[in-house]
Amino acid sequence: MQDSGAKCKAQRNTKQQSLIWDVFSSMHNHPTADMVFAAVAARDESIGRATVYRALHRFVEKGRAICVPVYDGADRYDETLLPHSHAKCTKCGGVSDVFIRGTLPEIEDDCGFTVQGGAVLYYGCCAACRESK
Ligand SMILES: [Zn+2]
Ligand SMILES: [Zn+2]
Repeated sequence: MQDSGAKCKAQRNTKQQSLIWDVFSSMHNHPTADMVFAAVAARDESIGRATVYRALHRFVEKGRAICVPVYDGADRYDETLLPHSHAKCTKCGGVSDVFIRGTLPEIEDDCGFTVQGGAVLYYGCCAACRESK
């Protein structure tokens, strides 16, 4: 009896995880965990906030998603795994991908550090906000 209960729970978890992944990976707007939770709740209101947060952490751990820290707000989640930076609109708070052409920066003072990767968070005004001005 106990076994089948555990199995049911595991199956339910897997189902929830794949629903959360479906919702998250179709958003394409660098959502916060709360934004993912709201979208998940619209599909299945039995899934709690903590479950969504845990699932997002797991996606990051497993390398299926990246977590984008934003200096003035909640972390964003991103399903684009290619190395890239981000631009945040100071008006609407929207976060977009920025792919930088060219080489990695060379550090000027010779501190012996070799740059292998990295990402920058730029800020500015997005096209939609600029047009609606
Ligand atoms: Zn904007
Ligand atoms: Zn991104």
